[in-house]
This record gives sequence, C-alpha cells and structure tokens, in this order.
Amino acid sequence: MSSEVVTLRPEVETITAEAVIIGAGPCGLFQVFELGLLGINAHLVDSLATPGGQCTELYPEKPIYDIPALPVCGAQELVDRLMQQIHPFNAPLHLGQEVSELKKKDDGRFFLRTAAGTTFDAGAVVIAAGVGSFQPRRIGLEGAEAYEGSGIHYRIKSAGDFHGRHLVIFGGGDSALDWTNELAHRAASLTLVHRRPDFRAAPASVARMRELVAAGKMKFIEGLAHALHSVEGALRGVHVKGSDGTVHQLQADALLAFFGLHPKLGPIAEWGLELEKKALKVDTEKFQTSVPGIFAIGDINTYPGKKKLILSGFHEAALAAFAIQHHLYPQKKQFLQYTTTSPIMHKRLGVPD
Ligand SMILES: Cc1cc2nc3c(=O)[nH]c(=O)nc-3n(C[C@H](O)[C@H](O)[C@H](O)COP(=O)(O)OP(=O)(O)OC[C@H]3O[C@@H](n4cnc5c(N)ncnc54)[C@H](O)[C@@H]3O)c2cc1C
Repeated sequence: MSSEVVTLRPEVETITAEAVIIGAGPCGLFQVFELGLLGINAHLVDSLATPGGQCTELYPEKPIYDIPALPVCGAQELVDRLMQQIHPFNAPLHLGQEVSELKKKDDGRFFLRTAAGTTFDAGAVVIAAGVGSFQPRRIGLEGAEAYEGSGIHYRIKSAGDFHGRHLVIFGGGDSALDWTNELAHRAASLTLVHRRPDFRAAPASVARMRELVAAGKMKFIEGLAHALHSVEGALRGVHVKGSDGTVHQLQADALLAFFGLHPKLGPIAEWGLELEKKALKVDTEKFQTSVPGIFAIGDINTYPGKKKLILSGFHEAALAAFAIQHHLYPQKKQFLQYTTTSPIMHKRLGVPD
C-alpha cells in the first residue's frame, strides 16, 4: 500500500477534519483525490483492514474492462492505482473501524464515532459505503456468540495468539487455507473442516494443506460444524458432522471460521437520512443526502437512472467535491481548473511546473 498515515487503532483525541469519508472502496478513494485537487483534506475510515471495498474483498483478481482509458485493469490493480493517485494528499486512513455514529451538531458540523472509539468533528461527511460494511459470516452454532473473540474467531489479529493451541479451522477459501498452512506447524493440533472436497482457495495452498495432512501434521474433515462442546463455560471442543454422517468430537480451545464476508447496511440506516430500497437518496447536482453537509456517492446512493458502476461513482465524487467546497466555504468563488494547466493543482499534486 503506497499510503499515507494508516491507523488501525482508535485515536484518543477527537480529530478535527474538513471532511470525513466513510468507506475506502474505489469511490471513497477517488473522493480523496477530487477533494484534494480543491485543496480540501479528508480523513478516510473503513471497517475493513485494507482499502478497496468490493474490488479488494470480492474480486481482486478479476479484470475490469469499463474504466475509461484502461482497456483492462485488475480490480486490485485499480485500487493500487487509486492509492497511488491519492498519495500526494496524505489522507489519513483509519482502517478496521466501522463508523457507528453520525450526528449533526448544533454548530452545523458533524460528530462521528467509530466502533473502535475514534471520534471526529467534521465540516462535511461523504458516505461512500457501497453495499454496506462487510461483516464476517458467522458459524451459526447455538451459544457461539458468547465465545466470539475468546474461543471463536472470524479474523486473526496476531498469529502468535494461536501458537501451541488446539485449533479447528473452518472454510475452503484463501483465508482458511492460508491460516491452516501457516499454523499447522505451530498449533498443538489442527483440523481443517470444509463442507466440500473441492476448495475455492489457490491450488498451491490446497496442495500444501494436503501435504501437511499426508505428513501427519494436521487433519482434514469434509463436514459441517454441528455443536460446541464446553465445560463450565469454557470452550473445550466442537462436534463436526462429516459428509458420511459420522460425528467427530474434536478437542479445541480456539475455532477459526473463515466463511467469507457479507455486506450489511448497518448503522447507516439509523442516521436519520432518507433511504430508498436500502440506498441513500441524493440529488444529482451535489450528491447530497437529505441532510445538508452529508453527501453520498458510489453504490450506496440512489437517484433516477442510478447505475452501480465505478465510473458513475467517480463522476459523483467530482461533483460532490465542488458541493463540499461550497458547503465548507460558501464565500469562496469556484473555478473549474484543469489538472493539465493549473499551477495550484500541480502544487497540490506535487508536480513540478
Ligand atoms: C464480482 C463483481 C464484479 C464487478 N465488476 C465491475 C465492473 O466490471 N465494472 C464496474 O464499474 N463495477 C463492477 N462491480 C461493481 C463495483 O465493484 C462497485 O460499483 C464499486 O465497488 C462501488 O464502489 P464504492 O466505493 O461505492 O463501494 P464499495 O466498493 O462497496 O466500498 C465501500 C466500503 O465502505 C465500507 N463501509 C461501509 N459501511 C461502513 C461503515 N459504517 N464504516 C466504515 N466503513 C464502511 C466497506 O467496508 C467498504 O470497504 C463489480 C462488483 C462485483 C461484486
């Protein structure tokens, strides 16, 4: 990542910002650029640990063919290019933090709080939250919630936490296989459970896992999580029902489940903004929501003729930037300047004249 200031931990002090962008998908990233060209600094917040939104989470290796002037561009490549393009603006990125609260203050500015506790005092807000914040799909066993974060994990912050432990890993994608291969030598025991014999993960990772099974370093069971086993409130294991109907009783002090992510509109629905079919209603001049000063671009918004395309989100970001400039500095005269010829834009972009 060619970034900027990246924080994965909450800031203690309230951050004063000209603009806060909620969502670091392609449209949120391009919003940083369009605001930066106008001399407006933005902070960017995303609930995921990496920028890129759907492009990075759902289809990083797929080619995109409808980005102007790029006949073909990988989805992750597009995100990398956007990160490079916004680099001159040094926008702080607050990752791994869902924005849970957004309120208009009496002075007309906005208060935002993330679930991790970071707070902002912002002059304007852009919601570029796509299809919502991505949440891990849960294991769905009775009583599982009580162990979330202690015995049941959907994300790994530090691999060291799982060394020397009895692990059961669920899933058949890249995360499940990567962590299986990484932890097989370091766990007290490790079993991988997947509902099918074929995997979505990279073939090389699957081959490595099969080698580890053949070498007796770990087990693989084709089956489904069936029930938790706990003793006096402590997680001791999990019962797994194999595809042949056999129930396996596995000793475990940690279950790692990687069933992928699903988007959830989440807290945005509670911020008092006008919604239509789970999308934020905006006008097509400013891309402003029903609350002046709060703008919405990309997949999260709706207006007559809306098409959920990256290209549309980029256009929306450009017009929203001018509207935000007017919202923040109503006295300021607005000029349309070309990046080709504008000395002030060159300065902001770090381009020598
Ligand atoms: C398989 C697939 C292929 C596609 N191919 C194309 C294509 O070829 N061309 C094209 O134009 N489009 C394509 N799309 C659609 C394109 O990916 C979306 O239009 C685009 O990602 C929308 O960008 P966005 O920035 O609006 O939202 P997203 O990419 O969804 O990013 C939104 C971000 O906001 C974050 N977020 C949400 N809520 C919060 C919150 N409360 N707090 C903090 N963060 C939050 C999310 O975690 C996410 O990272 C494709 C989509 C898919 C699934």
